Amino acid sequence: MLQLVGWQQPPELREVPEPGPGQVLVKVGGAGACHSDLHIMEAPGPPPGFATQLPFTLGHENAGWVERLGPGVTGFEPKDPVMVYGPWGCGICANCREGRENYCQKISGQGGGLGGGYDGGMAEYLLVPAARFLIPLGILDPRQAAPLSDAGLTGYHAVKRSAHLLGAGSTAVVIGVGGLGQMAIQMVRALSAATTVVAVDTDPGKLETAKRMGADEALLSGEEAVTRIKDMTGQQGAQLVLDMVGIDPTLRMAAQVARMLGHLTIVGLGGGALPVNFSSPPHECSVASPYWGSLPELMEVITLAQQQKIKMLLEYFPLEHANEAYQLLHDGKIQGRAVITPTNEYRPQGDRAGAGRRNCRRKRHEGGGRCDRWTGPVADGTASGGPGSGACDGDGRQADECGLSVLAMTENAFRPVAAALRPYLIVAADVRGRSPRRG
Ligand code: NAD
Ligand code: ZN
Repeated sequence: MLQLVGWQQPPELREVPEPGPGQVLVKVGGAGACHSDLHIMEAPGPPPGFATQLPFTLGHENAGWVERLGPGVTGFEPKDPVMVYGPWGCGICANCREGRENYCQKISGQGGGLGGGYDGGMAEYLLVPAARFLIPLGILDPRQAAPLSDAGLTGYHAVKRSAHLLGAGSTAVVIGVGGLGQMAIQMVRALSAATTVVAVDTDPGKLETAKRMGADEALLSGEEAVTRIKDMTGQQGAQLVLDMVGIDPTLRMAAQVARMLGHLTIVGLGGGALPVNFSSPPHECSVASPYWGSLPELMEVITLAQQQKIKMLLEYFPLEHANEAYQLLHDGKIQGRAVITPTNEYRPQGDRAGAGRRNCRRKRHEGGGRCDRWTGPVADGTASGGPGSGACDGDGRQADECGLSVLAMTENAFRPVAAALRPYLIVAADVRGRSPRRG
C-alpha cells in the first residue's frame, strides 16, 4: 500500500504497517463478515458517533497470528495464534478496567473496522493498538475462531446477562438465526441446558440450521409464531427474547412473546423502534440493547469452543472475493458465517476460491467442484494443507460425503460441506444422504 507518512514528504510504498510502541501486528487468519458491516455500507452517511474518515478497512471480527511485536510488548511471540478482542477502549476508565471496553466511557469502545479510527481485519495484516486486546487461542485455528470475537461474544454476552432468568422450565426465543442467532442458541444451551430454545426466522433453511445448533423449536416469523410461543409457555411468554434483527415487525413480535419480569434484548441493528407503554412490553419486562461483550467474556467463549461446546457453520472466501461474501450475506444466502481468509498460505475447506481448481479423485466433483478431503496443489501454486486436507479416502461413500461442490455452494449457500471441519468448531450439518446439488 502507498502511504503518506509525513506532510510534504513523498509517499512510501509500505506493504506491512510497522507496529509502534505497545502495538502488535497480527497476520490475519480470518475476518468474519458481519451484518453490521452491511448496515455501515448501506448507511447514507456516517452513523451517529462514527468518527472515522473514509477510507478505512472493514472487518471487526478477527483472529490471526502474531507477526511482529512493537517496542515494549511482552507476553506474546511471533506466530502465536490469537483472537483479537474487537472493541478497543481507552483501557483506563472504570468500565475498561473491568474488561468492558465495549462500554469505554471515553471513546465508546469502537474497534478496528468499525469506525473507531482504526483499520479492520479485511486485510493481510491488522495493527492492534495494544497487546491486551489479544487472547491466546491455544488449540483453535484463527480461521475458524474469528467469528467467536463478535458473533460468539455478542451472543454470549446477550444471553449471560439474563442467565438468572433461565431456570428449569424457562423459554428463550431467538428472533433471527443467522450468524449471531445461531451462536445465541448455543449460548443458551451452554448456560442453561434446562431452557427451551425457540428459533424464529423468515428463512426455512436458517430454521433447519438453528435446529442443528440446538433449537428445540423452529418457527417461521409471523403471527403463528407468536401464537405457538404463547401456547408453549402457558400464555405467559418467554423469560428471554433476543431480537437479532431489530426491525419494527421483529420488535413488535418480541414484545408479544416476552413475559412479565422477563428480558427483551435488542441485539440487531435493524433500526426499528419498540413502542413502549404501560402494558407493552409486559409489566416489568426489561428492555436492553447490549453492544458486543467484555474481554473476560471473550475468554469464556474461547473456552467453550476449546471444549467443543459450540460450533459454527462457516464458509470461506479469499480477500479478493470479500464483496461476494457481503453480497450473499445481503441476499440472506450465508447460512452461518462467511469468513474472509486473507492469507494464501492455506485454504480451509469450503473455500470458494477452490472452485474449479481441483477435483475429487473419485471424479464425482468434476466440472467445478472440489473435494475438501482431497490433497494436492491448487491453481495458485500453494499446497493444500491443514485441517481436513487428507486424501479423499475413496471408499465408495457418496460424493457429498467427500465434501461439497463449490458450484453447489454458489447455487445454494447451505454448505453441509463443512461438516468435515474441525473437531472444535465443526459444522452442524450432517451431509449423509444429501446431495449438494439437491441440498
Ligand atoms: P445475519 O444476516 O447473519 O442474520 C440475520 C438473520 O435474521 C437472518 O437469518 C435473516 O433471515 C433473519 N431475519 C431477517 N428478517 C427477519 C424477520 N423479519 N424475522 C425473523 N428473522 C429475520 O446477520 P448477523 O451478522 O447475525 O447480525 C444480526 C444483527 O445483529 C445485525 O443487525 C447486526 O448488525 C447486529 N449485530 C449487533 C451487535 C451488537 O453488538 N449489538 C453485534 C454484531 C451484530
Ligand atoms: Zn459485528
